[in-house]
Amino acid sequence: MITHNLGFPRIGKKRELKKALEQYWQKKISKVDLLDQAKQIRQENWQTQHQNGVNLVPVGDFALYDQVLSTSIMLGIVPKRFQSNQSVLDTEFAIARGQSGGECNCAASDMTKWFDTNYHYIVPEITASTEICIDTAALVGQVKEAKSAGYQCKPVIIGPVTYLYLAKSTIEDKITFLPKLLEAYQVILDELAQLNCEWIQIDEPILTLELNEQWQHALTTTYQQLKKTSSKWLLATYFGRVDHLSNLVSKLNVDGIHLDTVAEQGNITEFVYSLPNDWVISLGVIDGRNVWKSDLVSIYQRISPLLNVLGSRLWLAPSCSLLHSPIDVNLEKNLNEEVKSWLAFAVQKCNELELLAFALKSKNTDDITKYSTPVLQSLVSEKRNNNKVKTAISALSTADFERASRFEQRQEIQQRALGLPLYPTTTIGSFPQTGDIRATRAKWKREELSDVEYQTAIKSEIASVIRKQEQIGLDVLVHGEAERNDMVEYFGEQLDGCAITEFAWVQSYGSRCVKPPIIYGDVSRPQPMTTPWISYANSLSEKPVKAMLTGPITIMSWSFIRNDIAREQVAKQIGLAIKEEVSDLADHGIGIIQIDEPAIKEAMPLKQSQWAKYSQWATEAFRLCSAHVSDETQIHSHICYSEFNDILASLIDLDADVLTIETSRSNMEVLEAFEQLTYPNALGPGVYDIHSANIPSIEWIKDLIVKAGEYLPKERIWVNPDCGLKTRAWPETEAALKNLVKAAQELRLEN
Ligand code: GLN
Ligand code: ZN
Repeated sequence: MITHNLGFPRIGKKRELKKALEQYWQKKISKVDLLDQAKQIRQENWQTQHQNGVNLVPVGDFALYDQVLSTSIMLGIVPKRFQSNQSVLDTEFAIARGQSGGECNCAASDMTKWFDTNYHYIVPEITASTEICIDTAALVGQVKEAKSAGYQCKPVIIGPVTYLYLAKSTIEDKITFLPKLLEAYQVILDELAQLNCEWIQIDEPILTLELNEQWQHALTTTYQQLKKTSSKWLLATYFGRVDHLSNLVSKLNVDGIHLDTVAEQGNITEFVYSLPNDWVISLGVIDGRNVWKSDLVSIYQRISPLLNVLGSRLWLAPSCSLLHSPIDVNLEKNLNEEVKSWLAFAVQKCNELELLAFALKSKNTDDITKYSTPVLQSLVSEKRNNNKVKTAISALSTADFERASRFEQRQEIQQRALGLPLYPTTTIGSFPQTGDIRATRAKWKREELSDVEYQTAIKSEIASVIRKQEQIGLDVLVHGEAERNDMVEYFGEQLDGCAITEFAWVQSYGSRCVKPPIIYGDVSRPQPMTTPWISYANSLSEKPVKAMLTGPITIMSWSFIRNDIAREQVAKQIGLAIKEEVSDLADHGIGIIQIDEPAIKEAMPLKQSQWAKYSQWATEAFRLCSAHVSDETQIHSHICYSEFNDILASLIDLDADVLTIETSRSNMEVLEAFEQLTYPNALGPGVYDIHSANIPSIEWIKDLIVKAGEYLPKERIWVNPDCGLKTRAWPETEAALKNLVKAAQELRLEN
């Protein structure tokens, strides 16, 4: 039985690629050094996979920046603005990172989330005049590398339909570009076949989506038109089931299919039997994007009957590329031993395949039984189970999710309590995270600063931020979030049921990696997490200080979460913990509390038919945090998308008193969505883009507010930037906020 892998993390065990990339960009190392480092990581990755029992290792899964961008480079699909005479490598980085200076002042291509993961890809740009110019050097080179090192390998490419689907295009109907793309893919596939690889993996993850007829048709024609080569083709699907398209799938002219059996569990036997009986069926049985050890015994039991029918046509693999998994759990030295015994990262996942394959072949289950013991133990472990939390969750009733009064009534009461002017001004929470602040936190972490010294330093930062905001003239102040490294990790560190790792980095985009907390058990809040800082800030000003919390959906989405209970349950547990924090803040006299939910949209299921159900529990989890406060307490929320048509109804269901959103880049155009569905509460449509250092003029801001007035009554409009300011520097921040305040003041006078 063949075991194979769809992809392996490419950042390196100790983030070597990240470091090399950044050094190269800072011109501290040469191109040769960078490419050497990359080559070393590839060799190490193949060796690790091979040693841990992967028969067929992936090649072409490696990318210096992003696999979609590598595909664009291979196809020569380079936006016009980058077609200068620099090297292919520098062009690749310019597309990803933008370029200024020289003759080109060029914005980077867009970057967006890869399906429902936290990985970001570089969006290909296609226009009517896009000419394809194939350059397979990188991929061919890597295949040769793997072969000459003696590995049995399988080149991996992103399929043409998925590539086109993910691209952004100025062509009215981008599908008309498909024939051109297919010609190129034919050339690439022919070339790969000449390298004598038995199998080629073609990734078409869009098959897991609920595609319209046009895209379904595109898939059908693609895999009828592409002419088979001497290599066999394994069509790889992942992140969900594909049996909703079973008729389409079984007619595709390929030699096998990879199915993700983890993402949307359920019985796939019938579907598998409906597929052509000469296909290889690769079952993705090991969770490729979470951190838990597999219960190999139960997988064994599930698969054995299939093996009897399929025989050597059955292959084993992780559910998706291991790109989304940290690399090696054995690097962790400070994790609780019991929790650690429940974990498997990329290296361990490869080993799981080997154990499973051995058990299936030999019918000897001793090793997998032993291996899976901690998984079974975890289910009943005291570390994982907290009866108090379970009882609290099961005692929840409708009243826990609804505020006592309607928005109109709350607004009146809050207005009396807060006495804010028309067009109240505020910010989204964080202020510039200077080098000093970062150094202070790092020193305290390394215990080079005592708790008292650390508190003094942060308090002085808070005091300075409050002073600055008063000088600027903002109406609702914030404490600035200087104590937070990251809006999720900060809470993950403090919640029970959550672990923080040292090395469990996962690539987010390019050289940027994130280290998500691991939610391993019932979540609870042992003590206040933010109140001391916020109360302090509040004591420094007559003006209201708004507290800042991260919401349950965002904490959940940006963490690795346990897989023994439903996501909804995890979200509600976090909701309860945040609810306690909200109560604590309110008890300390904080009148405005913001609960950020920037992940609410990306956590949506890939299949549209599941959105309504998700929205229901996701908004419940949010309201669980916030609904219990008195009418007088004003709840804010913040999300940051310029595209929120799909989630408008959910945003309304959050029932926040004030919702601040990203709109400035689209010139308030996104507010057009409100023509279909009126937003009933107060809204702070971001009036300037914090991602840019440009200082918005007073006129520009006023214009935007006036525009917002076309969609909302002025009594419900707030004035604020479109996101937190932590990535900005102080001079531009102060200048921008002064204009923002001025704009609001002038408009008040004009009213
Ligand atoms: N309160 C957070 C901040 O200001 C919100 C960040 C976000 O929306 N991603 O940084
Ligand atoms: Zn934001």
